[in-house]
Amino acid sequence: MMAAFDVIVLGAGPAGATCAATAAEAGRRVAVIDEQPRAGGQVWRAPMGGFPGKGDADQASGDTLRRRLAASPATRRLGHRVWSVVRTDTGYRVDTLGPDGPTALEAPFLVVATGAHERVVPFPGWTTPGVIGLAAATVLLKSHGVVPGRRLVVAGCGPLLAVVAAGLVKAGTEVAAVVDIAPRSAWLTRLPAILGQPRLAARGLAWGFAVAKAGVPVLSGHGVRRVEGGEAVTRVVIGPVDADGAPTEGPEQIIEADGLIIGHGLTTACEVTRLLRAEHRFDRLRGGWIPVVDGAFQTSLPGLHAIGDGAGIRGQAMASLAGEALGWHLAGRMAEAEATRANMAAATPFSDAMAGLMAQRPAQVRAIAADTVVCRCEDVTRAEIDSAVDAGATQIDQLKHFTRCGMGPCQGRSCADTVQELMAARLRMSRQEVGQWTGRPPLRPVPLGEVIGAFSYDDIPIPTPAPL
Ligand SMILES: Cc1cc2nc3c(=O)[nH]c(=O)nc-3n(C[C@H](O)[C@H](O)[C@H](O)COP(=O)(O)OP(=O)(O)OC[C@H]3O[C@@H](n4cnc5c(N)ncnc54)[C@H](O)[C@@H]3O)c2cc1C
Repeated sequence: MMAAFDVIVLGAGPAGATCAATAAEAGRRVAVIDEQPRAGGQVWRAPMGGFPGKGDADQASGDTLRRRLAASPATRRLGHRVWSVVRTDTGYRVDTLGPDGPTALEAPFLVVATGAHERVVPFPGWTTPGVIGLAAATVLLKSHGVVPGRRLVVAGCGPLLAVVAAGLVKAGTEVAAVVDIAPRSAWLTRLPAILGQPRLAARGLAWGFAVAKAGVPVLSGHGVRRVEGGEAVTRVVIGPVDADGAPTEGPEQIIEADGLIIGHGLTTACEVTRLLRAEHRFDRLRGGWIPVVDGAFQTSLPGLHAIGDGAGIRGQAMASLAGEALGWHLAGRMAEAEATRANMAAATPFSDAMAGLMAQRPAQVRAIAADTVVCRCEDVTRAEIDSAVDAGATQIDQLKHFTRCGMGPCQGRSCADTVQELMAARLRMSRQEVGQWTGRPPLRPVPLGEVIGAFSYDDIPIPTPAPL
């Protein structure tokens, strides 16, 4: 089934849903697609499966956005997974797989608002059952009201540490420790920028207060050295690290726990703009590879726009503002678009401060031990990556052929940032020079049978003999 719209918005998080509602309310024919059954994205993820939700500020903001989108004339294709996007003579074609099978939509304008992936820098034992991501833990808490253990260590870096630790405390779970790579001074130097957004600063303080009130020890300037337990987490071993995340001399501490929740920031989910071969550049502060965009969020390809965390990690407030500004722009309401862009400038220092705390730390990556698995889909260790480089892999796509890194079901979503950093370090090249893996469909794993439909061998055309 093919349907025509003025604008297709891919992603119904704060960026995409705001953009779709704004443009549709202003008269554009808009379709918004998301694989989740309800809009809200990661930060405003809706409760599911009968769970009433935590009733917190994120849920309230998500409900407001969901109501606005539902009341707008935008066509919602929720529960639809986008697996392919191609350029056509007149714009873009988006192929989805939803509850009613495959569908395709076309429009001259495509807005990519696909958000972020979480980053975990590998360490011995990181694939042990019971180790999960910080961002994944927010999904469990928000959508299902599930806590992933009885006694947990929360570790990594960035603001999600506080979000998750406070959420677990509120849910009645024992948090054995919060382990933050950043030294206290990293937070203190960012205090002016944080206080510049009083509402967000107050929420952060409330999380910190909840953790402190529960008596949870917070170990700053520390990182996870290894997880012990084999079949399931039993102990988390931590030790001091420098400001760049590399282990330093100092005593190890052993924490008994049945789970570790860990995250080292976010990387951009820019697979769609990569697939379409838009121009990208590497920006460590913004989560890695980002599409190059102009003042109207347009990429190097006409009609292709990118907003939100997928266009550079900036957080929810900036994602919503970018969605609104682009929505106005697409509706031809330039004065409103400009006014909203001015609000983005005011929110930038806070966004930079948070992004800085979450950015990849190259020394932490370089310290990964040789026998640690880096690409968990294909079971590739750091030593195998180094050997491939020593054997002559000088391009990132060559490394993929040599090792199968990034060829598994996640298509590099979880390992790309680490693998590419390791290769750059070994070759003494910049990340920009090493490049990124070529984007390929499918964007998400899809059952082949559902996409191509039923067929038998008789349906396969027999090629006519070619002339010699
Ligand atoms: C797992 C996770 C949990 C997070 N939890 C929090 C939190 O608790 N608090 C917080 O402040 N920040 C959180 N963040 C960061 C937060 O996502 C962003 O700051 C904010 O949501 C950015 O909004 P966005 O609209 O750019 O992207 P998102 O909110 O990420 O929205 C992107 C949307 O695109 C959809 N999408 C992507 N690819 C496809 C596809 N191929 N087909 C169909 N749909 C697709 C996704 O389903 C998603 O709904 C989290 C990030 C992640 C990755």
